[in-house]
Amino acid sequence: MTPAPIILRRALPRVCIIGGGIVGSATAFFLARGGCPVELLERDTVGSRASGVNFGGVRRHGRAVAELPLAIRSRAIWPRLRELIGHDCDFETPGHLKVAQTEAELEPLARWAAIGRAHGLTIDLLDRGQLRRDHPWLTHDLAGGSFCPGDGYANPRLVAPYFARAARAEGAVIREGHPVLAVEDTAGGGFVLHGPLGARHEADVVVNAAGAWGGAIAGQLGLDVPMVSLAPQMFVTEPTTRRIGPVLGMVSGAIYLRQSVRGNVIFGGGRGSVHPDGLRSRPAEDVFERSPALVRALIPALAGVPLIRSWTGIEGNTPDGLPVIGESGGRAGLIHACGFSGHGFEMGPGVGETLRDLILTGDAGLDLSAFSPDRFAVPPAIRSA
Ligand SMILES: Cc1cc2nc3c(=O)[nH]c(=O)nc-3n(C[C@H](O)[C@H](O)[C@H](O)COP(=O)(O)OP(=O)(O)OC[C@H]3O[C@@H](n4cnc5c(N)ncnc54)[C@H](O)[C@@H]3O)c2cc1C
Repeated sequence: MTPAPIILRRALPRVCIIGGGIVGSATAFFLARGGCPVELLERDTVGSRASGVNFGGVRRHGRAVAELPLAIRSRAIWPRLRELIGHDCDFETPGHLKVAQTEAELEPLARWAAIGRAHGLTIDLLDRGQLRRDHPWLTHDLAGGSFCPGDGYANPRLVAPYFARAARAEGAVIREGHPVLAVEDTAGGGFVLHGPLGARHEADVVVNAAGAWGGAIAGQLGLDVPMVSLAPQMFVTEPTTRRIGPVLGMVSGAIYLRQSVRGNVIFGGGRGSVHPDGLRSRPAEDVFERSPALVRALIPALAGVPLIRSWTGIEGNTPDGLPVIGESGGRAGLIHACGFSGHGFEMGPGVGETLRDLILTGDAGLDLSAFSPDRFAVPPAIRSA
């Protein structure tokens, strides 16, 4: 049964959003624009965590099937950023090329191409010869590839801050340096969020957009969302001759790479380590050796181009690699949107729009069942066994 729209349960719900990454900021923007009183509480600064330090990939190509409708919905928002939030966030669409190192790796590419086409995407499968002709800058050892036009990248430094800025212009209150210390589910049907120095924030609807820390917030409210914090490692080179057209990925996932309009090559591969406090992460020594060597093997012309910097960011990963999005069965008005497992930058704007629809109309406009916050719950019979 479709739940009653939250707005009908109580006119103009006061929405409190925990976390100012791309997900929280986009949600704040779409809700404020829809007329909701919105307060966003961010522990650090808006966009300072995964949303601000990621690779910037805006990719539908190769997404999990369950994520595709949301990824496609989100992709439709990216070219509208200037109109919506006042900046295009350096969004570019050179397409996404996934390359296979072996004949065996061509099979998953072909399988996904059928899925992508069934969802209306254009996918070009390239054999060894065609890959070599179209992309002569790649090593000639590759078995083939798959190309998705219309995918691309944006500047992660800009997106969440511009969403938050636009949300503020629509009337949202954005508080930075404001951690949520506890969430209280009140007897009256609402919530009280406790902040620093005794700050209290009352809300009818809470959106848990706390990224890798969303599992801890959910846990406070009695929901078990198992999440592991991982720290993907990134690199950037000095600017070099522009030769790399599309965003590049490998079927193995070992390397993902793009060249900025200024010529810097930005790539990711491997993982750093997360500090036991869960708040800090750092690059790993062995990845420093391995990932640049893989890139030089993939694109021989990059040999000798100096690296400027390596960094990591903390991302929440769920056991099935899918995000947690939606209302938790037991509690109306409590919405989770976290654990994006490495895919949340592309999907962030679409999540914001989808949560607006869920909160204002009761209909998300998409099937969110694969992302149910309750899917990890242990059935009581097993728990008591
Ligand atoms: C290195 C790296 C590369 C990536 N590359 C890509 C990519 O190319 N494409 C892609 O789609 N995705 C990519 N991702 C994943 C993507 O960055 C994330 O999925 C996405 O940014 C998640 O956004 P978020 O808003 O959920 O989380 P975050 O950006 O982590 O934001 C959560 C916010 O919640 C705040 N918070 C936490 N606890 C509290 C609290 N108690 N009170 C108040 N605030 C709190 C945090 O300070 C943080 O700012 C990458 C991730 C990393 C780390």
